[in-house]
Amino acid sequence: MIYDIEYETLPREALEAIQLRRLQNTLERAYATVPFYRKKFTEVGVKPGDIKSLKDLRLLPFTTKQDLRDNYPFGMFAVPMEMVVRIHASSGTTGQPTVVGYTARDINTWATLMARSLAAGGATRGDIIHNAFGYGLFTGGLGVHYGAEKLGASVIPVSGGNTKRQITIMKDFGPTIITATPSYVLHLAEIASELGVDFRDLKFKYGIFGAEPWSENMREEIERKLHLKAVDIYGLSEVIGPGVSIECHEAQRGMHIAEDHFIPEIINPDTGEPLPYGETGELIFTSITKEAFPVLRYRTRDITAITPEPCICGRTLVRMKKVSGRTDDMLIIRGVNVFPSQIESVLMETEGVEPHYQLQVDRVDNLDKLTVMVEVGEHLFSDTVRPLQEIEKKITKNIKETIGVSAQVKLVEPKTIQRSEGKAVRVIDNRKL
Ligand SMILES: [Zn+2]
Repeated sequence: MIYDIEYETLPREALEAIQLRRLQNTLERAYATVPFYRKKFTEVGVKPGDIKSLKDLRLLPFTTKQDLRDNYPFGMFAVPMEMVVRIHASSGTTGQPTVVGYTARDINTWATLMARSLAAGGATRGDIIHNAFGYGLFTGGLGVHYGAEKLGASVIPVSGGNTKRQITIMKDFGPTIITATPSYVLHLAEIASELGVDFRDLKFKYGIFGAEPWSENMREEIERKLHLKAVDIYGLSEVIGPGVSIECHEAQRGMHIAEDHFIPEIINPDTGEPLPYGETGELIFTSITKEAFPVLRYRTRDITAITPEPCICGRTLVRMKKVSGRTDDMLIIRGVNVFPSQIESVLMETEGVEPHYQLQVDRVDNLDKLTVMVEVGEHLFSDTVRPLQEIEKKITKNIKETIGVSAQVKLVEPKTIQRSEGKAVRVIDNRKL
């Protein structure tokens, strides 16, 4: 089912006319109300009025995650706080997370985009949606929730965790759609099988998964274990949250971007030059309908390609491929964004610790497991074990507090971690995605 039949099937020319009008409005507003944007425009000598066609978008400067951090918490808001009805923040980042705001109209836009997304993923009014995305500052849970209500489906706000209770609800309430991170749903499947629950006896038809990268192999595994059709959903809080793009269940090949709300570009991440359709590069978004938190040429750091090929579902919106990597060193662990530098700063603040460390990420029982190996001074090994245990405990606690994810900390003797002649190998990611 196509939820927003008019906007999801617009001829290219009509879509581009809408995009240009909305872009020009957004630029005028951002320039007038956000000092950061006015300064950036002035630096490159551009005024909103100079943008006369969609091609002129490339005249505008990029916006980066660092820009959002520099304006923490509300410096990028384009409306007075009286108009802001919701605030979300990126999870798991230290010091200055990125904070985003929504007006009532933004919430309605987002709910509409999520209603569209759920419908593209197979949901209809009569469905019961088991929403296992986390509720909170993270946009996943509430994003799905509002979209499900807008669509008219019944949503179960089960959130993440408490897996056994989730399985009871799945048996008793008979949900037909499940939304979660792909790694969590596989974990759920494993616990269900331990409890003797067979997914063939449950009512699931479709699953909508996202918030972390996942492969085609993982899709096959999920579909086989859960006996449902699995689609990919993409979004990031800086742009709006989930619902920026969605795979249709008919094709299951690439995610349709909501181009009537976000203009996508693919650039060469080294030169900033825009790349044509089909070429792989960094994904950039410009929001063209958001009120509280417009983003202009926002660098997502996600690597993908875009295709305008027609789709069997009838939507005319371009599709982006599954995200294949990042241009920075960010890791996504259990759906949480983690930068190795955050862990490094925790380690470096700990007395007795040497500046040699390595992070290892594994997937055990379908859940991500982070191990932090760090060298400590030789003298600590010659003493009793107590000081070592204390350091270990302290680091474990500080990492959890800083990144929001638990890590197993292993203290090792000096020169245990292999030295590199070039760039240090700080991260070993053993997850097969
Ligand atoms: Zn499609």
